[in-house]
Amino acid sequence: AKLEGRNTYRFFTPQMHAKSVRALQLENAMRRALERNEFTLHYQPQICLHTGEIRSVEALLRWNQPELGSVSPGEFIPVAEDSGQILQIGEWVLRKAVAQLQTWHQAGFGQLKVAVNLSAIQFHQPQLPELISRILLESDIPPTALELELTEGVAVHDPKAATLTMDALRKSGVWLSIDDFGTGYSSLSQLKRFQIYKLKIDQSFVHDLDHDSNDRAIVSAIIRMAQALGIQTTAEGVETQEQLDFLREQGCDEAQGYLFSRPVPAEQISELLCAYQP
Ligand code: C2E
Ligand code: CA
Ligand code: CA
Ligand code: CA
Repeated sequence: AKLEGRNTYRFFTPQMHAKSVRALQLENAMRRALERNEFTLHYQPQICLHTGEIRSVEALLRWNQPELGSVSPGEFIPVAEDSGQILQIGEWVLRKAVAQLQTWHQAGFGQLKVAVNLSAIQFHQPQLPELISRILLESDIPPTALELELTEGVAVHDPKAATLTMDALRKSGVWLSIDDFGTGYSSLSQLKRFQIYKLKIDQSFVHDLDHDSNDRAIVSAIIRMAQALGIQTTAEGVETQEQLDFLREQGCDEAQGYLFSRPVPAEQISELLCAYQP
């Protein structure tokens, strides 16, 4: 009873109230963020562990909000999803990332791909495959240069609808990756059916690889399973040489993390492309 009383009391802490005020402030400021050009994309390289080159870069959204201080995507993406603004913002991200990739292709890095994160809310829009095809048609880059990162959760609610959307996206030529793999509920049979191209092993498994034998077992099992299904693996959040050595030894295909580069503005990617091109 004591515990219950405490929990009930904690429900009304000032912090909780402050949090919802903050969410409202963010939601309001977000309404003008696109027209005020407050969003930018940073890019983080994904390095091929077989050749050492940068195969693709992941676009990560940044919001330079002058009044509310620095706001991380971890904070503002959920607000954008709750308010529905993620649809407009997500479309801006797709257009911006595709335009930037076109610039890199024209600069001579024609093999480079860009990976864009899709919110489940975007994924469940019936017009999504059409929107993506249109954006690609209006550009000069081939659909095979675009990777879409989805979380495992997208398929949970309505696997049938999810299969249709994934099939439509695959038919358009883009690649599908599962983000944060290992934290959700996907099953082997789903992965096969969805024609997934790449699993991104969640950074929570990579973080303690050096000390945690359970994490080593999990990561090694994910890589083996993906190999058996003909799916690529990318380890996220790689920060140390020891983590990289283990991943390489296990046959992981790609790595992404601070060991190679933080997410950086587009201009800095060109320098990295030169450095990592063999
Ligand atoms: P995510 O897609 O899993 O992205 C990876 C996150 O890990 C990024 O955080 C990245 O900066 C961070 N990271 C990369 N390497 C390392 C490392 O070595 N160590 C550590 N500790 N962290 C690393 P970020 O940029 O803050 O983004 C957070 C999340 O926000 C993303 O997680 C993604 O779910 C979401 N997000 C970002 N941009 C977009 C977007 O354009 N659309 C949607 N829907 N979500 C986005
Ligand atoms: Ca991602
Ligand atoms: Ca991730
Ligand atoms: Ca994540």
